[in-house]
Amino acid sequence: ASSGVTVHETLPLRVLAGLGARHEIPRETERLGAERVLLVSTRSARGPADELAAALGPGLAARFDGPVVHTPVEVTREALAVAERAGADCVVAIGGGSAIGLAKALSGRTGLPQVAVPTTYAGSEVTPNLGETENGVKTTRRDPALAPGTVVYDPQLTLTMPKGLTLTSALNALAHSVEALWARDATAASDGLASESVDGILTTLPAVLADPADIAARERLQSAAWLAGLCLAQTRMGLHHQLAHVLGGAFDLPHAELHALLLPHVMGFNLPAVPRTAERLARIAGGDPVAAVSRLARGHEGPTTFAELGVPRDGLREAAERVAANPYPNPRAADADAITDLLRQAW
Ligand code: NAD
Repeated sequence: ASSGVTVHETLPLRVLAGLGARHEIPRETERLGAERVLLVSTRSARGPADELAAALGPGLAARFDGPVVHTPVEVTREALAVAERAGADCVVAIGGGSAIGLAKALSGRTGLPQVAVPTTYAGSEVTPNLGETENGVKTTRRDPALAPGTVVYDPQLTLTMPKGLTLTSALNALAHSVEALWARDATAASDGLASESVDGILTTLPAVLADPADIAARERLQSAAWLAGLCLAQTRMGLHHQLAHVLGGAFDLPHAELHALLLPHVMGFNLPAVPRTAERLARIAGGDPVAAVSRLARGHEGPTTFAELGVPRDGLREAAERVAANPYPNPRAADADAITDLLRQAW
């Protein structure tokens, strides 16, 4: 659009949210006209997947329980063969971003309608984005046809997340909202979603960490993560997501932990360049937002530095150069020296 004009586009999406929403899944697949469901799930979602399989009865055509992080195409081919043999007419995915990514990859190749049932806060279920790996190379594409048409948020399914994943996955969601606030293509609508989501995460994450079985707090945190996912779908992500993408690929790092440890460093770098976003975040956080997010990130019982995560210090410069050579839109210009400094701090 011409300068000063913002564009806000949304994908058609039906969302069911609330305790017990998972029991609606058979009605949702029926609503899609499906009679032969392929159920994709990870081992962590075995319980809810078994429960759904029983509820679908003869409507269940096949199961695939081998999704892998970053959607390797070999695994997609395997799942595709299962879908074809079973004559599947719909895909239901229960799990984190890995299970949902596989359903997107299947749907992108077959046109099958999807129902996504997330068990983490990663947000993939509401985006038209898909990252796939082939021969160790990850490529990302964006296509409205990849986005699940139905999403079911049941907070019950998030109760099994251990404390560490709860924390890092919620900070992964927070990163979507924070980058949406300083995005060049932010709109009044994305600002609204992002602000509400930052508020929801910062206020409810401590409550969930204090009592991971608090279902009401879990439900509020999941709702905030939903809004964060919409931010990821609606705005172009900047330096934070680029660093996560490049470093995650180069050093094969765990997705949520990487986001969690990077976020305060990127906020510290970018916020001086976007005073209005900094003020807004300070208002929501009730103080210094970088300190608030650092405090949360440092509370992780797992790795909180690149050194602990196993990233070689002498690999940082090359990663910084790759990021600087082909930058995502970011509110503060970042050359290879500045990015190297940021990464060394995180190291
Ligand atoms: P994940 O799906 O890989 O899950 C991480 C681990 O947690 C796995 O071992 C999983 O089995 C376990 N787990 C998941 N939910 C659980 C639960 N409720 N209880 C206990 N254990 C549970 O991790 P993720 O962070 O959700 O997703 C990361 C993947 O999703 C990456 O491949 C990333 O690129 C992709 N992603 C894509 C988008 C997008 O818009 N395309 C957005 C976010 C993430």
